[in-house]
Amino acid sequence: MTVRFGTATMKAAQVAAAGVSLKIVELGIPKLGPGQVRIRIRASGVCYGDSIIIEGRKPGIPYPRVLGHEVAGVVDALGDGVTDWQVGQRVGVGWHGGHDGTCRECRRGEFRNCRNEKNPGISCDGGYAEYMVAPVAALVSLPDALSDIAAAPLCAGVTMFDALRHTGAFPGDLVAVQGIGGLGHLGIQFANKFGYKVAAIGRGSQIEPSGDETRRRRVYRQQAQGPC
Ligand SMILES: [Zn+2]
Ligand SMILES: [Zn+2]
Repeated sequence: MTVRFGTATMKAAQVAAAGVSLKIVELGIPKLGPGQVRIRIRASGVCYGDSIIIEGRKPGIPYPRVLGHEVAGVVDALGDGVTDWQVGQRVGVGWHGGHDGTCRECRRGEFRNCRNEKNPGISCDGGYAEYMVAPVAALVSLPDALSDIAAAPLCAGVTMFDALRHTGAFPGDLVAVQGIGGLGHLGIQFANKFGYKVAAIGRGSQIEPSGDETRRRRVYRQQAQGPC
């Protein structure tokens, strides 16, 4: 993406209203508030959850809205009071876009269940753009070993990662991943690295063992039935 410096604008993919398709628009580069960083976006994942905003299936979404809650980028500027992050640092932003710190769930330390949780691309503009702003509570630091494209699917990644680590399974146990799509393909890889025996269950001719198939992984193809 190329930003036209001097005009202080950027391109973004925006939904104007519920039921309206995404459209590439020119917007002002978002301004920073206290406790926020501005991110120059390098990659943004596409999640099924984005369709909820496009189709207006969730009440109370403020439109127009720039979608995207799977962001990888670089800190471009720091808001007042931000001391723990640096310009140039690689960061990611997922589903969690900030919490109020005052509700019952927050006082219990369950920030992800905040009653007033912010979500990028839903309650505030997200990553389908050249720049976005995010509160520091939404940031994760990205390791150099992970490319921007590999890091971006944070929503799908944390869903699979947390699901696997709460299964109670130990290395060597058999874990089945049913549905080899946007989440499942990550689940197979995580489960393999966790040391499980992995059974991948999917349908369609694209569900085949990959070239790096290991003896710990088995692929089962379901009979194709129905539209999904
Ligand atoms: Zn809260
Ligand atoms: Zn998502």
